[in-house]
Amino acid sequence: MIIDCHGHYTTEPTAQIDWRQAQLKLVEAGDFKPTRALLDISDDAIREGINDNQLKQQRERGTDKTIFSPRAVGMGHHLGTADTSMEWTRLSNDMVHRVTQLYPDNFIGVCSLPQYPGVEPKYCIPELERAVNELDFIGCNLNPDPSGAMWSDPPLTDKWWYPLYEKMCDLDVPAMIHVSGSCNPNFHPTGAHYIAADTTAFMQLISGDLFKDFPSLKFVIPHGGGAVPFHWGRYRGLAQDMGKPLLDDHLLNNVFFDTCVYHQAGIDCMTKVVPVKNILFASEMVGAVRGVDPETEHNYDDTKRYIDATPNLTAKQRDQVFAGNALNVYPRLAAKLG
Ligand SMILES: [Zn+2]
Repeated sequence: MIIDCHGHYTTEPTAQIDWRQAQLKLVEAGDFKPTRALLDISDDAIREGINDNQLKQQRERGTDKTIFSPRAVGMGHHLGTADTSMEWTRLSNDMVHRVTQLYPDNFIGVCSLPQYPGVEPKYCIPELERAVNELDFIGCNLNPDPSGAMWSDPPLTDKWWYPLYEKMCDLDVPAMIHVSGSCNPNFHPTGAHYIAADTTAFMQLISGDLFKDFPSLKFVIPHGGGAVPFHWGRYRGLAQDMGKPLLDDHLLNNVFFDTCVYHQAGIDCMTKVVPVKNILFASEMVGAVRGVDPETEHNYDDTKRYIDATPNLTAKQRDQVFAGNALNVYPRLAAKLG
C-alpha cells in the first residue's frame, strides 16, 4: 500500500475557475451575492481532468491512494471578502468530495478552510465539521498566513488558533500547514512563499509550547519541511538555546514532514536527519513542478523513485514512509481503508 498524502485538485473544470473569477469581480463591483447555485459541472467534466492526469500518474508510478484537497494556490484566502472565502471554500471542498465519490478507491478528501486575514480561525469550525462529518474527509489544510505573504495574523502558537485546534482534536483530524498564493511580489508563490512558510511554521512551533496544551494535535509540514531538514542542526541548536526540550520531545510526536522534495540528494538528506516515523510519502503531483529532470529523465515530482533509491531506509522503514506513518497521522484513514 502506497499512500500519497499530498495531492491537490489542480485539474478542476474550467467552469470552476471561471466561477471564482466572476465571484471576485462581483466583490470589485461592490455587488457580491452568493452565485454558487448558478454553477453546474457534470461528472464527465470532472473525469476529464482526473483520468489523464492524477489517475494516470497513480497507475504509472505505482501509488495506490492520494489524500486530495482543493488547489492550494487557488484557496486565495487574501482575495475577496470573508463571505466570498466561505462560499468558495465550501464549493471547492464539495468538488473534491465529488472526486472522492467518483474514484473512491483512489482519492481521500482533505478540506481547505474558509480563512480570511484578520478573522478568527474559530469561524472555520462549522466547515471543518461539515467536511469531516458529512463529506467524510480525514483532515484539513491550515493556512498559517491567510494574508498571502504579508504575515499579518498571529503565529500558530497563539491562542487565536486554539478553538480550531480544539475542534481538530475532538474530530481526530490533523492539518497540513499549507499557505496559498502570494500577493507580495517579493515572494514567488511555490518557490519562495511555500518554502518560507514551511520553515516559518516549524520555527514558530519551536518558539512556543503548543503541544503541551494539545498533546494529540498533529501537523504535517509539506514540501519536505522547507529548509528544516537541511538546517536540522540550526533548529536543534535554537531550541536548546531557548531552553526548550529536545526536538524529539518538544515537537516530533506532533509534527511530520512530507517528501515533496524533488531530487534524490534532498530525500537522502531528509531520511538521514529526520526520524523515519516523522516522514510521510507525498508527491504533490500535477502541482508546482511538472517538468522532466534532464539529469534523470523522470518527472521531478515522481518522488517514489527517490524513496525507493535512498540507501538510508530499510524495507520496513520504506513501508512506514509509504503508508504506516500516514495511518498514524490520519486516524480516520484506517477506518476508511477498512
Ligand atoms: Zn500542496
